Amino acid sequence: MGYDESKNREKMEKEQAVLERRNSKAGCGIKDLHCHIMEPYALCPIRDFRQPCAQNADQITRILQTCGLEALCIPAITLYEEPDFACNALSLYAKLLLPERIYALAGLRRYLNREDNRDMLEQAKRLMAAGFDGFKMICKPNARRKFKLSIDDEIFDPFYEEAEKEQWPILFHVGDPASFWDREKVPVWARENDWYYGEDRNIPSYEELYREVETVLKRYPGLRITFAHFFFTSERLDYAAGLFDTYPNICYDVTPGTEMYLDFAARPEETAEFFRRYRERFLFGTDNAAQAGEPAVVEANLQESMEKISWMRRFFETEEEMEVDGFRVRGIALDSETLECLYRKNFERFFHYRAPAAVDKEAAVELMREMSEQMKCESDEAQKTKELLVELESIFQNY
Ligand SMILES: [Zn+2]
Repeated sequence: MGYDESKNREKMEKEQAVLERRNSKAGCGIKDLHCHIMEPYALCPIRDFRQPCAQNADQITRILQTCGLEALCIPAITLYEEPDFACNALSLYAKLLLPERIYALAGLRRYLNREDNRDMLEQAKRLMAAGFDGFKMICKPNARRKFKLSIDDEIFDPFYEEAEKEQWPILFHVGDPASFWDREKVPVWARENDWYYGEDRNIPSYEELYREVETVLKRYPGLRITFAHFFFTSERLDYAAGLFDTYPNICYDVTPGTEMYLDFAARPEETAEFFRRYRERFLFGTDNAAQAGEPAVVEANLQESMEKISWMRRFFETEEEMEVDGFRVRGIALDSETLECLYRKNFERFFHYRAPAAVDKEAAVELMREMSEQMKCESDEAQKTKELLVELESIFQNY
């Protein structure tokens, strides 16, 4: 199938017009908490890794502008695989390009050897000084096959302690849908990604994973955490309510997970009531991810990003029926006050009502240089990532 640019553009313009109408109706733009600048290498074992380049940062500014977003936040995932080491640097670069409207949450570099992780607090301080607005943390269960440390390992305590004291915003991805532990229910695509976790002794059970988080929250109850993807508790709203009641700083983002929206739609009144009751606790997020490449790739990426925001808005704003990943669901039509919190106010509070932190170019260059010096470059992807870090260093120096 060839790429039909005029048709695509026409479709895009239509979507844009719909979005603009909705924007003016709601009286506000949206702030998207969860928009990636590249696909993380460490987390998607079978998907083709798209080598990131400087253009990824341009593309994220285009997503913001094309979709009519008021602001967005880039969660950077760094972890321990070298091809992911460019993620923090690219995020800071995007902030340079659109400093008033782009926030970024730093990824912390993790080490497979437990003792090496003692530098986490030190890293965190330097990343904040370079211009990050907080942190992205991730404990996706498949990563535990390699990275054996639990979320509540005491080696992380100095970081959690400081994060609580300083009220650093943290977007935390813990877990995956419960069905990924269930031999009968795990979706085929998840199994193909190696995301079936049942019977794997290296991976904690679904319940153990939540216990680890609860241990951390008991130790540091003031942590300013937004759990990504509704903390995978869309089936258990009573659990979520208990968490919100106990920990006043805990929020959820509504970044799909199709399963979340199926759960919501299965109990529309209960869900809408839950959103109303805890309206201070939900932040809008899409998981849109910038892709660089040929014009056709870039345009399709914008189109996809718009479509996602579009169906999500329809879901929250209307009772229309719509298709989500092949499933028919009906929207839950939240009231305008709840929507205002979801789309904007809670994002603003999460970031202490501050504008995005300014990038300190010197500190950023220093971090990039260290990162590239640490690299062993045993794969082609890693080698290219190192070249990108060197390129970004010189972009920063001349910016
Ligand atoms: Zn994500």
